[in-house]
Amino acid sequence: MHEVSLVHALFDQVDRAIAPHGSKAVRILKVRIGDLAGVDAELFATAFDGCRSERGYVAAALELVTEPAVWRCAECGAEIVAGSVLRCRSCDGEARLAAGGDLILDRIELEVADV
Ligand SMILES: [Zn+2]
Repeated sequence: MHEVSLVHALFDQVDRAIAPHGSKAVRILKVRIGDLAGVDAELFATAFDGCRSERGYVAAALELVTEPAVWRCAECGAEIVAGSVLRCRSCDGEARLAAGGDLILDRIELEVADV
């Protein structure tokens, strides 16, 4: 299941980001999954639940947001509505995927210790 390796990659990223704080401080991990990222959100959430205790993130909750695909013209930057032809209506430039193609760690929320 390729989602499991994605979850481990995510935790690797979190490990590095929160190194000074320790994994127990992580409350919420917000992750964006693009429509075209080739990731099944449900499988990803299941894999997250299965891996978080072994990775030391028992208290971390996953917040998943799906991101719709957005295409833009490579020439003029105009947004292109995905249809049968993925070309710019104004200049006939090629379409490039501008959003929705990645899995992104959006935000890490840490437990704030009482002072
Ligand atoms: Zn264009």
